[in-house]
Amino acid sequence: MMQAYDSFFLMVIIANWGAPPLAKRALLVSASASLVVLMLKFAGYISTGSAAILSDALESIINAAAGVFAYISLKIYSKPPDASHPYGHGKIEFISAAFEGGAIVIASLWIIYKSVDEIAKGASFHKIDTGIILVALASAINLVLAILLIKIGRRNNLLILEADGRHLLTDVVTSVSVLLGLGLMRITDYYILDPLIAILFALFIMRTGIKLIKISLGGIMDKSNPEDETKIQSILDGYIGKICAHHKIRHRHGGNICFVDFHIVVPAEMKISKAHQIATEIEEKIARALGSAGVTAHIEPCTNQECNVCKMWVMQDSNLRPAD
Ligand SMILES: [Zn+2]
Ligand SMILES: [Zn+2]
Ligand SMILES: [Zn+2]
Repeated sequence: MMQAYDSFFLMVIIANWGAPPLAKRALLVSASASLVVLMLKFAGYISTGSAAILSDALESIINAAAGVFAYISLKIYSKPPDASHPYGHGKIEFISAAFEGGAIVIASLWIIYKSVDEIAKGASFHKIDTGIILVALASAINLVLAILLIKIGRRNNLLILEADGRHLLTDVVTSVSVLLGLGLMRITDYYILDPLIAILFALFIMRTGIKLIKISLGGIMDKSNPEDETKIQSILDGYIGKICAHHKIRHRHGGNICFVDFHIVVPAEMKISKAHQIATEIEEKIARALGSAGVTAHIEPCTNQECNVCKMWVMQDSNLRPAD
């Protein structure tokens, strides 16, 4: 489901939900601190014009933007099916992820453009020290916060806090690499290091965006999930003997609901009530195996003259019949 809860807006929302008081407080502190960090990084970019610092700051903005998308889609996502959307509203998740991925790709292209521009113009930095200090301060705040969140999360078994802390740690790693690059640039006076670092990070961020777009397009286009496919297949195979055969298995996903349909072949003389009973049994078994699922079976009569299941069924059926 949603993976973007480690961002400012969603943290506020989770904090306002029925989370434990400790988690609430920790998440609110973390959310406000992340705003401060964002402002520090931006101040660092404005005072230096460094593309590398911009790319570092951008990661923080992407998280905030992801939070807004996640918030809006989570509201729609959790609405139950209605007359105009009988399959529910789960697909909003894919649309939101596609937007998010698109925004990330555009942002990283922008950074690459800025960096190439910087290389072409041969920019030099006068106040790079200010930038280094601001980014260092921002990542120090992030580091302290990350360690605290992970500790509190572990001690109290609150996964949300631990995940948030881990995310902040990756943020620290990015900032430290940017700082190393800027420090090297300051010593060597190779100003080209700045746009090169920025391009490197832009490419890294872009990969995340492309991955996100791929996943969401797969969801929108009803790409099948091999794991679910195997589960459905093996349950149906287990019913061979009670049914003659099965075919035309299909499944698609709308958010966390899986919609499944398939055909089952039963002995032609079987009563509708019996066939329906078997179909319902299979439907329920598949629904249980997939978690949240809407399963529909189509029943058809067997036309295979050599069918062993049919032969067995006729024998059993005549045994069950009272003797004339
Ligand atoms: Zn069929
Ligand atoms: Zn029925
Ligand atoms: Zn048959």
